[in-house]
Amino acid sequence: MKQNYIENLSKIIAKLPSMGPRISKRIVLHLASNKTKTLIPLINALQNLDQYIHHCQICGNLDEGDICHICLDETRDKSIICIVEEVADLWAIERSFERSKSYRGVYHVLNGKLSARVGQGIEDLSIDKLIKRIKENKIQEIIIATSATIDGQTTAHFLAEILKEYNIKISRLAHGIPVGSEIDYLDDGTISIALNSRKEV
Ligand SMILES: [Zn+2]
Repeated sequence: MKQNYIENLSKIIAKLPSMGPRISKRIVLHLASNKTKTLIPLINALQNLDQYIHHCQICGNLDEGDICHICLDETRDKSIICIVEEVADLWAIERSFERSKSYRGVYHVLNGKLSARVGQGIEDLSIDKLIKRIKENKIQEIIIATSATIDGQTTAHFLAEILKEYNIKISRLAHGIPVGSEIDYLDDGTISIALNSRKEV
């Protein structure tokens, strides 16, 4: 049977965040007609992404090597962990602090949030790893930075409950986060304010 290569690739691209069938078809046609300038460099970049970029074994960030540059950074305070849903949220918080340097702790990426809607439960999140980290390190504060969506708040509540027994200061992002917001989409100033005015739970 004849393969429909253009259709196949279009379907894959359409599944990417912020994509749809029309834009993905345009991208595929653009790539097929600009092989030297766009397609070949893209293939190389994708291969590098596959070969060199991995999840950090400690926090779940994406970086080169087994341990990410944040976890390797000696100047960071390993006793403060900021819990985020996705790697994109971690990067958004880092970006907002690049100038001010006011957050010097480390992170933990959950890889999602509790959601009945998409059928995501506790076992899908990186919670065992988090508990292990807490048990094996002297953690003093945990900042729960899940999104201001219903699922994000449910996740935050659940985390606060299970972390209670470890006798750590637990805080949550406070003012400035509009209800329904994903952290990744917030501007730097809003993230800064929310983190600086975090509330203990
Ligand atoms: Zn890391």
